[in-house]
Amino acid sequence: MNLDATLNADLHCHSVVSDGTLTPEALAARARAAGVRLWALTDHDEIAGQQRALDAARALGLPYLTGTEISVTFAGRVVHIVGLGFDHEAAELAEGLRATRGGRGARAREMAAGLAAAGIPGAYEGALNYVGNPDLISRTHFARFLVDAGHCHDIPEVFRRFLTEGRPGFVPHRWAALRDAVGWVTRAGGIAVIAHPGRYGFTPTEEYALITEFMAHGGRGIEVVTGSHTPAEFVQYADTAREFGLLASRGSDFHSPDESRIDLGALPPLAAGLTPVWAELAHRIHHA
Ligand code: AMP
Ligand code: MN
Ligand code: MN
Ligand code: MN
Repeated sequence: MNLDATLNADLHCHSVVSDGTLTPEALAARARAAGVRLWALTDHDEIAGQQRALDAARALGLPYLTGTEISVTFAGRVVHIVGLGFDHEAAELAEGLRATRGGRGARAREMAAGLAAAGIPGAYEGALNYVGNPDLISRTHFARFLVDAGHCHDIPEVFRRFLTEGRPGFVPHRWAALRDAVGWVTRAGGIAVIAHPGRYGFTPTEEYALITEFMAHGGRGIEVVTGSHTPAEFVQYADTAREFGLLASRGSDFHSPDESRIDLGALPPLAAGLTPVWAELAHRIHHA
C-alpha cells in the first residue's frame, strides 16, 4: 500500500455514536464510494463505534485506522486532540474517555436552563431526541433541535446566538487535561494529533505553547488539511508541521450530509514533502 502524502486518507469524521447523523456502517460505505483509501472514524470522547467501523471497512476492503477526538481544556480553552491507530481495547484509554464523557449530562441540563431563561423551554428533552448515544449529548444535538423547532435558520446561527461563550446556552466545562489525552492515545499504541489548529483563535504565542506542551507529552501530529481550515491555513499549518517536525494529518470532519460543507475524501491532498501521520502508522492499519 502506497502511504505517501498523496494518499486519499480521511482520518476525521463523526457517526451517531457522537454528533454525526450517519451510522459507522453508512460512513464506511460513503467513504469507500467517495474514493477514500484509508479511513478513521473519530467520534468525540468515545470509541464505542470502533469495532463496527472496523468490521464495515474490512467488509468493503477499505483500510482502517482506529480513531477518536478527545475534548481537552488547555489554558482555559477547549482544544481537540485526535487519537489514531491505538488499540481500541486498551483499558486506560477507554476509562479516560469514559471520565471525559462524564460531565455531559449535567452540562446539558444547565444549558437547557440557560436556554429556558432565554425563552426556549424544553431544550434538554428536545436535544435528547437527536442523540444516538445518551452518554454523548453535545451542543450539536441542541443545535439540531433549535433549528427544527424554528428558533434559528441554521446550525451556525444557533452557535452564534446561543451556544458559544457569553451566550445563554453556553456552559463552561472542564474536559480532559492535555497530558492525559495525549498519554492515553500514546500508551495505547497510537499517535496523538492536534485537531484543526486554525479553529482556536490562538495568538502565535498561545499556539506555540499548545504545540510545545503537546509535544512534551509525546504528541506527534497536527491536522493540516481539514474541513475546518481555509486554503491559506493548509499552507500555514504545512509550514507549522515542517517547523516543529510534526506528522501531518488530513480529515474532512464530516458530520452529516445535510450539514457538512466538505464531504468525506473531498479535500485536497497533503502537500508533497510533508510526512503524513499514516506513514508512521503502517503497522496499525487494519486491512481487509
Ligand atoms: P460539544 O463537544 O458538546 O461542546 O460540541 C462541540 C461540537 O459542536 C463540535 O464538535 C462541532 O461539531 C459543533 N460546533 C462547534 N462550534 C460550531 C459552530 N460554530 N458551528 C457549527 N457547529 C459547531
Ligand atoms: Mn462535532
Ligand atoms: Mn473538533
Ligand atoms: Mn470533529
